[in-house]
Amino acid sequence: MKTEDVMVKCKKCNGLAPASQMKLDIEFGKMICPDCIKSKSKKKDESKQVPVSDKIHYVCKSCDYKFARSKDIANPNNCPYCGKPTIDVEKQ
Ligand SMILES: [Zn+2]
Ligand SMILES: [Zn+2]
Repeated sequence: MKTEDVMVKCKKCNGLAPASQMKLDIEFGKMICPDCIKSKSKKKDESKQVPVSDKIHYVCKSCDYKFARSKDIANPNNCPYCGKPTIDVEKQ
């Protein structure tokens, strides 16, 4: 049977982690667990940057109401003016 790692408490999240996996956080000045190390590096993720002015233009086929929605918002199902589900993407 292998000798198990000593579990130590992370000074940041108070969770237990094997002592051999603890890393010294230079900014924090204390030993932190692998989970805290992971969440630290996630902050540097820049892949979520989205262009701002990306809008899709819609037109309602029932009442001809035209409107625009940002690309990252889900497509509208109903016309905000007449409430009918007759939304079409307006070609530019
Ligand atoms: Zn932690
Ligand atoms: Zn409409």
